[in-house]
Amino acid sequence: MQNLFFPIGGGNEIGASCYFIQLNGAKLLLDSGIRLHSDSTYPRFDSLYAENLLDGLWELEGILLSHGHLDHVGSLPTVVAEAPEVPVYATLPTRDIMELQLNQPLRATKGANPCKAGANTIPGDAELVDFREVKQFNAVRVQRAIDSVVPLRWHHPIALQTCQVTFFPAGHILGASMVYIESEVGNILFTGDFTPFDQLTVPKYDIPDNLAVDVLITESTYGYQEGAYTGDVDEERENFAQKIDRCLDEGGTVLIPAFAIGRSQELALILRHLIRTGRLRPFTIYIDGLAQVACDIYEENGVRVFGHELEKAPRHLIDALDAFNGVIIASSGMLLDNSASARYAEKLLPDPRNAVFFSGYLDEESPGRRLEGLAMSKGQRFRLNERKVPVHANVDTYRLSAHTDSEGILSLIERVAPKKVIFVHGYPQYRTGVNVYNETYRRFQSRIEVYQANNGTPIYF
Ligand SMILES: [Zn+2]
Ligand SMILES: [Zn+2]
Repeated sequence: MQNLFFPIGGGNEIGASCYFIQLNGAKLLLDSGIRLHSDSTYPRFDSLYAENLLDGLWELEGILLSHGHLDHVGSLPTVVAEAPEVPVYATLPTRDIMELQLNQPLRATKGANPCKAGANTIPGDAELVDFREVKQFNAVRVQRAIDSVVPLRWHHPIALQTCQVTFFPAGHILGASMVYIESEVGNILFTGDFTPFDQLTVPKYDIPDNLAVDVLITESTYGYQEGAYTGDVDEERENFAQKIDRCLDEGGTVLIPAFAIGRSQELALILRHLIRTGRLRPFTIYIDGLAQVACDIYEENGVRVFGHELEKAPRHLIDALDAFNGVIIASSGMLLDNSASARYAEKLLPDPRNAVFFSGYLDEESPGRRLEGLAMSKGQRFRLNERKVPVHANVDTYRLSAHTDSEGILSLIERVAPKKVIFVHGYPQYRTGVNVYNETYRRFQSRIEVYQANNGTPIYF
């Protein structure tokens, strides 16, 4: 049986991460995600059968989950429904984050009117509104998926058929792991999403020195950018602080739409850090939407989020915004209609004293991206929550990401010195500026074979 890597989602794209691995006779799946903003939600499981790699998902010997974001775990209920005996390996925080997200659409469809102003709790969070269409998210399937998780601890190897599997911390978000698979015929390191610098919520990735790696499968989300997330992090934070200071000085309110899991907690801690170190004068930071529950999971895992300046948003904050001179961090990150962040934005955008600061990736089609485009021309009307809202507030974007840039990827390659490197979870079509594929080829071509993963195309080793 040949050893191979076969991406069925998340190859040349960000979304639906799902990679089939055949190694030393073992058949494994790395991640089991969905596409968040696409008509074709699922990885192409059928291509595994078409290529005669499997007769059914029940033939898998294990599913290894890097972390709890839906683009890495969203199709797990479907997979487990088809393959109930296959063990799923993940860290405990990954399991909890997965459970929170997979249960979300069910909660969202349970009666409560998410559009009602003031309904600032979980049912109103539309970050996952797209997934109401995902029929497989039913309570039984979700529970089965959660129950099939075998918790792994970092740095503790387990035997899996003819292989040995070890998870290492990947940075990124709570519980995120790099997956290391050893076998007699070669070793694989899969990075998942990773961060090469310490965040306030989680430290940077941590693998042992001299790890023997034959095949490195690495994310490349920001493989076309250099320095934006490592060297310039302090500078970006400083700009961010200045803008917040100015808005609060003028008596305004700052809204930061942020992804519920990871980004919201990190931004909250960055703000509190800026207050604690005297860079910003004290103000209240409220967290709203699904991000609130995600904060509870962080707290349960020893990451202190709430306390002092930082609290869950009170229930009727949205009706008392005129009197609030502080910062609200709310999901969804892309300002999807009727989400907590969109409801705040609707109230805050007409007043020039206020500000809306985005903090990361905005989908082409998202309201957040449209608002960003309007920001230069004040007074324009912006369609949000099925209303037209005049935009007078200050709108800006800051790059405070939890993904590595190209230098972080290159230094990992340098460090583990694999025979092959495979880029996944990125857009290789970006040809502007830095290109991590070309750069890897240029720096290491004589020593390392470089591949860009393409969904449906196997890579043998
Ligand atoms: Zn992620
Ligand atoms: Zn991802």
